Amino acid sequence: ASEPLAYKRILLKVSGEVLMGDQGFGIDMNTVKAVAAEVAAVARLGVELCLVIGGGNIFRGLSKAAGDMERSSADYMGMLATVMNALAMQNALEKQGIDTRVQSAIQMNAVCEPFVRRRAIRHLEKGRVVIFAAGTGAPYFTTDTAAALRAAEMNCDALFKGTSVDGVYTADPKKDKTAERYQNLNYLEVLSKDLKVMDASAVSLMRENAIPIVVFSIRTPGALNEVIHGKGTYTVIT
Ligand code: UDP
Repeated sequence: ASEPLAYKRILLKVSGEVLMGDQGFGIDMNTVKAVAAEVAAVARLGVELCLVIGGGNIFRGLSKAAGDMERSSADYMGMLATVMNALAMQNALEKQGIDTRVQSAIQMNAVCEPFVRRRAIRHLEKGRVVIFAAGTGAPYFTTDTAAALRAAEMNCDALFKGTSVDGVYTADPKKDKTAERYQNLNYLEVLSKDLKVMDASAVSLMRENAIPIVVFSIRTPGALNEVIHGKGTYTVIT
């Protein structure tokens, strides 16, 4: 714990798919608990933490819009899915003794706070983990973009993307044995090589605001803790 922190305030983006664990759908509570334990460990070090959780484990607008549904309606359903994930994560974090607040981009006052930037900053200063739900509140966006937007608004030192692999590879490491992990990349390489890290609007927003994107494995116990100290394996995009 006495090791210096490489980052003091971060936004961690976890896709909804991570939370389904080995199930094909929905929320696997053991996985939520495991991710919460990773987050709790760094929160206890005094790192100021913002969280954005996707909704793809429950509902993804684009895939449903192809059918009978209006794209905007499908996207609103996707945003509501992120609220469910946020509440599951809040519950798991509080069981581990971490104070949290959920702030939603779509107001639902019986469930959580509305997004109010200055209030969110205050929560961080008080040591609370702030979970941003409902994405940007607008259809045609993704939670990657919401994560980038909140990282910029909240003056985060980095945007952490927790995935199921420990960085960005030249090819899919689960399919191609010759795939190699990049240690460093720049934003333009990610965009021009069309590397599947985050969507292009999220990467562009981070580029414009010079906020590093750190890609690491949220499924490896202790990895977040190492990366926050600048150690372990990850890819950093600057
Ligand atoms: N969504 C949206 N606007 C936003 C964020 C999300 O419309 O600002 C909708 C969109 O339909 C998306 C769904 O919410 O498919 C779930 O989010 P996402 O696909 O980004 O989740 P992830 O892939 O991270 O699990």
